[in-house]
Amino acid sequence: DMHAIYALADHTKCLTFMLGDGIIPSNVKAGYLARLMIRRSLRFMDKLGINGSLFTLIDMHMNNLAKDFPHLSKARERIQEIIEIETTKYRELLERGKRVVQRFLTEKKHIDVETLVDLYDTHGIHPDMVKQLAKDMGKDIKIPESFDSLVAERHSGEKEKEEKKTFALPELPSTRLLYYKDTYMKECKARVLWSGIKDGKNVVILDKTVFYPEGGGQLADTGILKVSGKIVKVNHVEKQNNLVLHHVDKQIPEDTEVECEINWERRYALMRHHTGTHLINGACRIVLGDHIWQAGSQLDVNEARFDFSHYKSLSERDVERIESLANDFIEKGVNVEKKVMDRSEAEKLYGFRLYQGGVPEGRNIRVINIPDIDVEACGGTHLNNTREVERIKILKTERIQDGVNRLVFAAGKENVARLEEKEQIIWNYLYKKVEKLFVIKEKKTDQPSRELKEIASLFSVPVNKLEQTIEKFLREISIKNKESADNLTDACQKLFTMWKKTNKEKKKVPENLLKTLKKEGQKIDSITLIVIDQPDKIMSLDAVAVAGALVKGGKTIACISDGQGIIMASSDDIDIDLRPIAREVGKMLGGGGGGKKNMVKCGGSRLDQLQNAIKRAEEIIIQYLKKMQ
Ligand SMILES: [Zn+2]
Repeated sequence: DMHAIYALADHTKCLTFMLGDGIIPSNVKAGYLARLMIRRSLRFMDKLGINGSLFTLIDMHMNNLAKDFPHLSKARERIQEIIEIETTKYRELLERGKRVVQRFLTEKKHIDVETLVDLYDTHGIHPDMVKQLAKDMGKDIKIPESFDSLVAERHSGEKEKEEKKTFALPELPSTRLLYYKDTYMKECKARVLWSGIKDGKNVVILDKTVFYPEGGGQLADTGILKVSGKIVKVNHVEKQNNLVLHHVDKQIPEDTEVECEINWERRYALMRHHTGTHLINGACRIVLGDHIWQAGSQLDVNEARFDFSHYKSLSERDVERIESLANDFIEKGVNVEKKVMDRSEAEKLYGFRLYQGGVPEGRNIRVINIPDIDVEACGGTHLNNTREVERIKILKTERIQDGVNRLVFAAGKENVARLEEKEQIIWNYLYKKVEKLFVIKEKKTDQPSRELKEIASLFSVPVNKLEQTIEKFLREISIKNKESADNLTDACQKLFTMWKKTNKEKKKVPENLLKTLKKEGQKIDSITLIVIDQPDKIMSLDAVAVAGALVKGGKTIACISDGQGIIMASSDDIDIDLRPIAREVGKMLGGGGGGKKNMVKCGGSRLDQLQNAIKRAEEIIIQYLKKMQ
């Protein structure tokens, strides 16, 4: 198949450049095209019967191109890793997808284009494959010629930004932005040029201001205006074109002289987080690679979020290195250069990396350069020296979407100290709880945050859910003698293992118990119906496991109340669908029910109805069985 060979050669070359330039496969924009191309290449390889890894082909391109494009070989390792991750992901999707298509084709006869696109997007199943599978099932499906571009179109189009409604204002001279002249200016005198009402709120425009309007991920300043001795609150500040609008709580007549005063504590916290974000950005690039690209940021007084593109989740080690590097930058006390530069000159000097936070308008741009650490075009207010950030602590990291990671961090000594205090409180709480079941050797910790993170990942919950999670686990196990543990993490680890063991044991149903329970069964023709309405009869075992074990011998239906709900099971040799019964019984319990045809669960908030509900279930089943004869 010549077409496939040419296409494969072309795709892999294109991929070499895309990935070499730092594009990360994802579900949006350029990242999506990269993913599309990887999957197409893998399909062509399958079609042509090429066994080997896709990376081998890309590596061949890289070797050919190395002379003219030296930057490609620097990205070699990263590209290999990306291709491996994407290939595994694709193969897994395909396996799952096959089952989906088969189910789909059994239920429906026709598959339209929208469905095809969906199957491809959510399940990664290309129409070629749908067609093949359909053919195997004796069905014919039409695939539009332009399918791939159809899918690409869906993703590459940037979301049309909602046009912000501009508020009609008179022609006024631009507000002089004093916060750019000196980011540390806390007060100034100004004159009201315009006063009016916007969306029911009082707004003033001044000839100059120290108030920073919301923008670039940085929140607006708040503060006060002093008007001949009286205080007017500034609740919000926004920018419209070249004018700054102050939202105030009282009307101020035009031409009035006012004194502006910003809430400095708030602003300084925001500045710390803003400069801190640039440090984190620089640290990420060093630790994770040059392909890191800011995807967004949101600064608050207590913490900041930094989102960036990266092809996999961060390891704990990555996070520790990023945090420690950022704190090194702080300790070094690097001066933060803030200057307005000619756009093309800045681009020549620093490259397009400048535009991480978006591309600003105008011929001149504000450049924030922290030498050897980070340089960005940025309109925020920044500290003069990195030392003022004081301390950075990464609070959590998460993968917010495919290809994009988020780091949440706090900056500032006091701020971090307050957070650490909170962590210590959680640690102490857990210790007190777990201590009841374990003799823990280490009674204190120097690193509560690290330990909490470890414990949280052990239980797969966020740190703030640890208290209730541990409580739940403690409730669900029983220990006779206290065991010993080295430290809290160790104790939690043991707790987890015990819990797993207990759960497993709950699923082991002793033979003699089965015998006893079976004796309670009633015969309806050839079928045995076992109804257990007293939860203590199953001795706190897992009811699903008991029901499963009871029906294993065949010709049996079991119906068990475990005190929390009702479980019903039937053996495969009985033609009964338990699901409608589960729904009806679940309703009686003030909830619902469902599951598989021959194994259902039902429950709800009205546990006082358990006896009635199980009686009703019994009635329905008996009726059904009698009808069947
Ligand atoms: Zn910035």
